[in-house]
Amino acid sequence: MSHQSILAALGLSADNSGTYLGNGEWSKTQDAGVLEPINPSTGDVIARVHASSIADYDTIIERAQAAFKIWRTTPAPKRGEAIRLCGDALRQHKDALGSLVALEMGKIKAEGDGEVQEMIDIADFAVGQSRMLYGYTMHSERPGHRMYEQWHPLGLVGIISAFNFPVAVWAWNSFIAAICGDISIWKPSPKTPLTAIASMKICNEALRKAGFPDLFFLFNDAGTQIAQKFVDDARIPLISFTGSTQVGRIVGERVAQRMGRSLLELGGNNAIIVDDSADLKLAIPAIVFGAVGTAGQRCTTTRRVFVQDTIYADVLAKLKSAYTQVEKRLGDPTDPATLLGPLNSEASVSAFLKAVARCKELGGTIECGGTRVDRPGNFVLPTIVTGLKNSDDIVQHETFAPILYVMPFKTLPEAIALQNGVPQGLSSSIFTQNVKAAEAFLTAAGSDCGIANVNIGTSGAEIGGAFGGEKETGGGRESGSTAWQAYMRRQTNTINYSDALPLAQGIKFDF
Ligand code: NAD
Repeated sequence: MSHQSILAALGLSADNSGTYLGNGEWSKTQDAGVLEPINPSTGDVIARVHASSIADYDTIIERAQAAFKIWRTTPAPKRGEAIRLCGDALRQHKDALGSLVALEMGKIKAEGDGEVQEMIDIADFAVGQSRMLYGYTMHSERPGHRMYEQWHPLGLVGIISAFNFPVAVWAWNSFIAAICGDISIWKPSPKTPLTAIASMKICNEALRKAGFPDLFFLFNDAGTQIAQKFVDDARIPLISFTGSTQVGRIVGERVAQRMGRSLLELGGNNAIIVDDSADLKLAIPAIVFGAVGTAGQRCTTTRRVFVQDTIYADVLAKLKSAYTQVEKRLGDPTDPATLLGPLNSEASVSAFLKAVARCKELGGTIECGGTRVDRPGNFVLPTIVTGLKNSDDIVQHETFAPILYVMPFKTLPEAIALQNGVPQGLSSSIFTQNVKAAEAFLTAAGSDCGIANVNIGTSGAEIGGAFGGEKETGGGRESGSTAWQAYMRRQTNTINYSDALPLAQGIKFDF
């Protein structure tokens, strides 16, 4: 598919409005700045997107509040029906939207399609969840009383997303929020506004055709002025933020200041432990996929590998050999034969080169990669670094690029301490055939991450589980399990069906 036909298939043109105002209306604002998303494999501008004005933002809030009044009392299974339509519409547009994700973000086509599939999967999950917004019933300590809890919608949910999962993160949040009775407002990354506009058109058209109210709104910010207003806006009880720890810290503090809720999904620094019993037929592809997939630009990317010293040389040799195979398949992400695409931006290439230089300064050995590729676009070679310590500043830090630090260990407790010895706590894995090692890794004294796996890698996640991490990863959970509760408010109800009013602490009035 040519770039123009991808855009045309999704109702996009060379010049687009970045603001969905509701009522089927896209803003005509043209004087609030222009976003020019770049094709990362060529450096060319793909299309123009007009940013939103403050007046647009105020209209969105007003209309979202009106939509909430209708939606909050719509029965939850009926709300599920709306999201089923979104899932169906996404199925019809999967190929084109997957291609646009590849074109604008730079991940390979299979990953772009996979991301749209995640949207479809979460839609299916949300439909089921809409019939399961369960609360507990408790036994009251007072006679003739019944006590139970119920979950009510929160209201408006603000979604701020990162460039690397430009559409799935929105679906994870907005579809679950919708079945919970909330209306969501999305501010996507300025690097990926086109995929956001396309997702919005697909889902909102499906909803409008079936007569549902507007559940999803969109604005694009030329800078961060409206995003900051959004974060500070007391009319939005929940801000779900996905992005760097640096920005997430500011967002979390500001939302807390106004006593709002935030759901933070921030940076990771994920590790795999490979002990001497590991099946390397599983471990090597898991490490390579985790480290070079999406060119190292996943929050769950494998960044550190700890290998038991007795098999260290063998594992390193196997990894280097696998990397040379991947390098041969580097190229245009929209070409289905490509295995490794570019970094998303020129700034990411600079961060990669700076990190490589720092590794060298600290005495690290660049085992392979370490350079930019001499061709247009933001291509770098996947890189393995040895000879550094886990405590080195560059290893402690998330560089959003395909750099893998390989380090030896002697004992399992040492490996677990190393794996936990970073500020982030998102995803972790152990490759072992030793049941004691596997179980130890999963105990309270084992991995301190939100995700801990045995014999599968760190990257990616199934939507059925709650997704998120601890420490500087922010503590938020999205997607499956009980993550839906973050989008609702809990209410405890006590009903007295007796003729008496037993007061607490045995207090009795004389009247
Ligand atoms: P980023 O922090 O630069 O930007 C994220 C979003 O925040 C963007 O939409 C941006 O416009 C917005 N933003 C910037 N300044 C803001 C401000 N002052 N107020 C409000 N919003 C503001 O992140 P990025 O480079 O787009 O994404 C990469 C990062 O995201 C990595 O650290 C990655 O690990 C993380 N990430 C985490 C998860 C997760 O689930 N844990 C998932 C994807 C990405």
